[in-house]
Amino acid sequence: MIFPEQKTMNKIEHIGIAVKDLESSNQLFEKLFGSPHYKIEEVESEGVKTSFFKSGPNKIELLEATKADSPIAKFIEKKGEGIHHIAFAVEDIFSEINRLKKEGFIVLNETPKKGADNKLVAFLHPKKTNGVLIELCQEID
Ligand code: ZN
Repeated sequence: MIFPEQKTMNKIEHIGIAVKDLESSNQLFEKLFGSPHYKIEEVESEGVKTSFFKSGPNKIELLEATKADSPIAKFIEKKGEGIHHIAFAVEDIFSEINRLKKEGFIVLNETPKKGADNKLVAFLHPKKTNGVLIELCQEID
């Protein structure tokens, strides 16, 4: 395996947590962090409503399903509430997708889509990542 000098995944951008009820979870996480969420955003195409918290340099995304057949609803049905994905910041999502495909990972959406918080996002299938759903995200300028 060749490790390029240029960094590919720079840092954890955020951690996504699936919740049943965004309203009550917002209150819970406000107590936990001692600060309110700074953003609520609905991504209609994904059937999800999200809120964002900051804890120091770290970011937490809460996700509530808005449709019964959305990926978050299915996740909660199967596994219950909890950590849903880990998102890594990348500089060039297109080259990262190509690199990871060559390494044998399964990219769930090979064409990056617009996610919450002004990001282009792509997901890796947890089957090839030890059961962890990985999100790649690139800031949209
Ligand atoms: Zn996310």
